[in-house]
Amino acid sequence: MSKASNSFTCSACGASHRKWAGKCDACGGWNTIVEEAPLSTGPKSLGAKGRPIPLSDLATEEPAPPRASSGIDELDRVLGGGLVPASAILVGGDPGIGKSTLLLQAAASFARKGLKCLYISGEEAAAQVRMRAQRLGLTDARVRLGAETNLRDILTTLDAERPALAIIDSIQTMWLDQIEAAPGSVSQVRAAAHELVTFAKRKGVAVVLVGHVTKDGQIAGPRVVEHMVDTVLYFEGERGHQFRILRAVKNRFGPADEIGVFEMTGGGLAQVPNPSALFLANRDQPAPGSAVFAGIEGTRPVLTEIQALVAPSTLASPRRTVVGLDSGRVSTILAVLEARCGIPFTGLDVFLNVAGGLRVSEPASDLAVAGALLSAREDVAIPPDMVLFGEISLSGALRPVGQTENRLKEASKLGFSQATVPSHSKIEGATGLTVRQMPDLTAFVGEMFGAG
Ligand SMILES: [Zn+2]
Repeated sequence: MSKASNSFTCSACGASHRKWAGKCDACGGWNTIVEEAPLSTGPKSLGAKGRPIPLSDLATEEPAPPRASSGIDELDRVLGGGLVPASAILVGGDPGIGKSTLLLQAAASFARKGLKCLYISGEEAAAQVRMRAQRLGLTDARVRLGAETNLRDILTTLDAERPALAIIDSIQTMWLDQIEAAPGSVSQVRAAAHELVTFAKRKGVAVVLVGHVTKDGQIAGPRVVEHMVDTVLYFEGERGHQFRILRAVKNRFGPADEIGVFEMTGGGLAQVPNPSALFLANRDQPAPGSAVFAGIEGTRPVLTEIQALVAPSTLASPRRTVVGLDSGRVSTILAVLEARCGIPFTGLDVFLNVAGGLRVSEPASDLAVAGALLSAREDVAIPPDMVLFGEISLSGALRPVGQTENRLKEASKLGFSQATVPSHSKIEGATGLTVRQMPDLTAFVGEMFGAG
């Protein structure tokens, strides 16, 4: 039998490489590639030893999975409408962002609804978890608690207890005794996740795996197990900000890109049922450089403020600092403004930011970004009761985007009275707003900022 050769895996993104290198081509991480012993040598021969599997027709009706509601609407929404039994969920995020707090609150909520919940902490002693529960006022909930990292013992316990939900905090601390690698290594993390996911499917237990996003190559990040689970949620937000956003990046049982918005309070994470109001709450007086974007996050509209600052630069290549938006997209908008409208940003530093710490990835934000940039450059404020949205094409034309009416309705609900949108946007009913439709960026510049 030939010895299978070791492979090299990136501990940040899970890409496999044929040989070791200082930098991972896939994710650009430095010093993240580690050598891994092969998990198995694979099947030796695929003979006719298998048994035939049952097959069904395309029309065979499968009932929708029953779901358990946590009572925390923002969490249920991100899960696609509640917890699906026997599903595997990965919750990733930076250390210290509040994953354990949220999941302890979720476990308590599910337990209060009558679900049997187990919380296994590999990070903290049981006493520490109990202290947190006390601080959050959750001690009355019947959540069973364990502090363990040996997966064999954990699986035996889960098999005996058969909870409806088991939370494993975190997957990087778990280890399997038959694998000769340190806990947190790619092979341990993958093998432990595989065991837990298989257990979830076989025994009908919903499993939540907590994964810390890691910066150095010693500990494997949550991305290496993303492909094994049904649902991948990332917990985003800056430590300095009070908002936390739980985002579904993959969901077999619901829409991806759905977000749940939470606020960090003394009593734990409180859900924010109306995020638009929150993201716009601290808006100052109408100031140049600010534009309100009516966006869609998952299935609901969310209004955010795009802020721009444009200042003369002393650098040979001026600064382009972009937070919360795709910087490639911003460069394209700057190029279109220069080439199609004759408004250059050469010699100017550009700073762009989404207020509140939300990350906006919709191309529909183009017009609001252009609006904020122009407003900052021309020193002319956009009317404070106006929302903007629309995609900018390379020709400078404005393209209509989906869910126009939902965006306008949300804006109207929050007290906005006018909107600037691309021509041919689909508006049928009354929206309660004065809507200006623009064919292209040049028309927008002329209308809003004079001739430019
Ligand atoms: Zn990588």
